[in-house]
Amino acid sequence: MKPANNQENSDKCVCPNCPSYNKCMTEKMEKLFCAISKAVCAFEKRGCICGACPVKIENHLISGYYCKSGAEI
Ligand code: SF4
Ligand code: SF4
Repeated sequence: MKPANNQENSDKCVCPNCPSYNKCMTEKMEKLFCAISKAVCAFEKRGCICGACPVKIENHLISGYYCKSGAEI
C-alpha cells in the first residue's frame, strides 16, 4: 500500500543515507519517493537501502528504487 506523504514518514525515510542519494536530491530536499514520485534529479544507481526503512516495513512495500520507478501503487 502506498505510504502516506506526511512529515512522520518523511522523518523516517532513510533515503538520505543511501549510496544512490546525491547532492541534487539533498538540495531539492527530495525523499520519501515511495509516497510521492520518482526523483526529479538525475542519479546513478549505487544500491538501495529501502529494505532497511521503517516506512517500507510498516507499509509492507515489496519493491525498491522508488526514486527511479516512482511511488508504490
Ligand atoms: S521505503 Fe525507500 S523511498 Fe520509501 S521512505 Fe523508505 S527509504 Fe524512502
Ligand atoms: S528509493 Fe532506494 S535507491 Fe532511491 S534514494 Fe531511496 S533508498 Fe536510495
